Amino acid sequence: MKIICVGRNYAAHAKELNNPVPKRPVIFMKPPSALLVNNKPLYYPEFTKDLHYEAEIVLKICKNGRHVQPEFAHQYYNEIALGIDFTARDLQSELKAKGHPWELAKGFNGSAALSPFISIEEVDRKSIHFQLHKNGAVVQSGDTANMLFSFEDIIVFVSKFFTLQMGDYIYTGTPEGVGPVQIGDCLEGFIDTNSGKKKLLVCEVR
Ligand code: MG
Repeated sequence: MKIICVGRNYAAHAKELNNPVPKRPVIFMKPPSALLVNNKPLYYPEFTKDLHYEAEIVLKICKNGRHVQPEFAHQYYNEIALGIDFTARDLQSELKAKGHPWELAKGFNGSAALSPFISIEEVDRKSIHFQLHKNGAVVQSGDTANMLFSFEDIIVFVSKFFTLQMGDYIYTGTPEGVGPVQIGDCLEGFIDTNSGKKKLLVCEVR
């Protein structure tokens, strides 16, 4: 099982971190040990002083595929979840400046918070609205209609390099509004479904 992540997939978020808007998807991975499920708390890692949340819609791959063609890409996922791509922003900036890989800043234990999955039939697949609250206040509000690369674009692109396997996850990028968390903060993630707004994720920072 692998966890594939897309960076800078919303123009407004690329701008807030002074990154160029990419011409092709920015891809990185997290190891399976990064997963944080069942609303478990995240323990603030000792190697950072600037831990950030990034709320993202996550796809679960339901079919193996390589070189997936655009017209079939929608068949490769049928469930979505709300995830948080936790990032040690200070360490990431240091690694980026040196031209080094991001894994230490992005793939540590607990860095991939993940809610339970819901069927894609429960949402508007072309425009999924989602929110992240910190201590009860809205900090991120996004809509997948604003992604630079759609779910299908990501699947087509990634499958040219890596075989997608049933059970893989794809974190599809975060909208603007990323920011720091402190010990004691409580993050809650929501997705708008056809039957109303659903709270899918709770994550305390300890
Ligand atoms: Mg991210």
